[in-house]
Amino acid sequence: MASPVNPDRPAWLEGPPARCEVLPQAIHSAQRLVLLGAPGVGKGTQAALLHSRLGPCHLSTGDIFRTAGRRPESAQTPAIRQALAYMRRGELVPDSTVLELVRERRPCLHCPGGFILDGFPRTVAQAESLKKLLEDERLALTAVINYDLPAAAIVQRLAGRRTCSRCKAVYHVTERPSKVEERCDLCHGSLFQREDDRPESIRVRLEAYDRSTAPLIAFYQRLGLLVSIDAAGTAEEMYARTLGSLRATS
Ligand code: AMP
Repeated sequence: MASPVNPDRPAWLEGPPARCEVLPQAIHSAQRLVLLGAPGVGKGTQAALLHSRLGPCHLSTGDIFRTAGRRPESAQTPAIRQALAYMRRGELVPDSTVLELVRERRPCLHCPGGFILDGFPRTVAQAESLKKLLEDERLALTAVINYDLPAAAIVQRLAGRRTCSRCKAVYHVTERPSKVEERCDLCHGSLFQREDDRPESIRVRLEAYDRSTAPLIAFYQRLGLLVSIDAAGTAEEMYARTLGSLRATS
């Protein structure tokens, strides 16, 4: 049976041959951004704000895996099943799998709204492949935004995060609780804790970040694309800093 049409980024989440019926449009000029920062730093929320206010499409590789994970196992390819096992342990999925998924979605890099890569690249090998891919596609990044937050604050943010199983709205048990416990304010779906937000997975994810992803900061600094943003405070405060830095670099 064909999977139901999902209006949310089908070309990215489902991969070819799925297509977006309505393409996002850039509010001013198309921004092509990479967001860096440890898990839990608030990249996903910033990506959603940037998308809704400036137009670029939110291209999260983690969302590709979560979408695939909701399909019945019989509909998952062996590579995806293997990738989901890495993800459940909080480990990085092998570069070859991630790169294949991104390459087959290369039309998304030409989105008229621009794009925000969230969670990709995560290793220097992925960053080098992205650089080559963008050169082949004759596209240039606008900026690479690096969100900075101390580790203790990250653990606190991640362990309390809850997500709606239906509409994917994100809550926090103490900082942004839902009105009714374990129920979404927007659609009344049940709230769940992502498997990789459990304390034992958080530790592994932060170690993986330090080992593999932190070197990307130096990589993009050398290319003159890096913009560092303090990730403390509310999402709106972070957004205001992000926008200010983007304006300063354009
Ligand atoms: P995220 O939602 O970006 O935190 O991603 C959730 C999980 O998906 C990660 O902990 C990894 O297991 C996997 N993942 C997502 N993007 C990548 C990537 N670019 N490289 C390797 N693994 C990834």
